[in-house]
Amino acid sequence: MARILVKNGRVWDGEKFFFSDVLTNDKLIEKIEPNITDNADYIYDAKGKIVSAGLVDIHVHLKGLASPSFGVGAEISSFPFGVTAVNDAGSTYGDRELLDYISVKNTVFVCASIRQNHANFDAAEKGLVKYGDKAIGIKVYFDKSEYVRDITPIKEICAYARQKNLKVMVHCTLSPTPMVDIVNALSKGDILTHVFHGGDNSCLDNDFEALKVAKEKGVILDLGLAGNVHTDFLNFEKSVKAGFLPDVISTDITCLSAFKRGGKYGMTMCMSIAKRVGMTEEEIFKRVTSLPAKALDKGSEWGYLKIGRMADLAVFDYTNEPFDLTDKAGNQVKNNLGYKCILTVLDGQIVYIN
Ligand SMILES: [Zn+2]
Repeated sequence: MARILVKNGRVWDGEKFFFSDVLTNDKLIEKIEPNITDNADYIYDAKGKIVSAGLVDIHVHLKGLASPSFGVGAEISSFPFGVTAVNDAGSTYGDRELLDYISVKNTVFVCASIRQNHANFDAAEKGLVKYGDKAIGIKVYFDKSEYVRDITPIKEICAYARQKNLKVMVHCTLSPTPMVDIVNALSKGDILTHVFHGGDNSCLDNDFEALKVAKEKGVILDLGLAGNVHTDFLNFEKSVKAGFLPDVISTDITCLSAFKRGGKYGMTMCMSIAKRVGMTEEEIFKRVTSLPAKALDKGSEWGYLKIGRMADLAVFDYTNEPFDLTDKAGNQVKNNLGYKCILTVLDGQIVYIN
């Protein structure tokens, strides 16, 4: 598609909402202004809809990179939800060539493991070699189910990551330590995912105010909603009401969550739940575009809709379509006004239309 003209939309450019038309030319955004009258190969009337920069999902598990029972196809878990760039959080399989073949723009975090309360970097070393410059961080599963006793392995992983100029992402849902201890061990740009989990040492179980202070140095708290598994909706709602928002919204999508609800689980459902628990539209869209792009050091390429940038965008409508998601604790979110992706454009090509 050479030129796409999206008319009359409410544009989200990564930073703010405003009403405008958007014109793409070849792979780039050519114009963002009202009343564009240029000829186009495809014209879409987005009246009443949101025209956003392509969404960035900081926490996914892709087929070919994650374990075979876990990973989900990159395109099918992204394009129908407006996602144009992802970060695979815990890559083990595949290689650099596979990453280049995935149409969705991508980065990866390699896995470090924990054995007997100490970090092990065997898999991380291999991953860093085979994924090359696509590997920008280390993911670790820090959880009592892995026989972790205290913060020691996180400190070891952080020391290793600093030497190699990598980020750290910590998964924790059954924590042996208060959440604030994890955040204190991390540095600016590191990520704690599943911030509203309902397991031991949740954000509300410990000193909530101390956690707010600890993250101020620039640690990124990721929703990592994870279908019905790793987010307690009541914790999420209470935190939002207390003014404690996630810094980024991600799906943690796997093949286990992706197809449980008729293929409806994806970024738009996470955004709908965020809206339901009280986040504003601006807060939500920032956390699925520019903020995750910056968190991955990709702010100059992803997460913004700007003239001269690659034409990655998505159009969203509001839907009353019922959805029903119940977390492990039995908190149910259902049938509210949610978001639905209508059109996704990647590098100036329509990759999804509904
Ligand atoms: Zn995950």
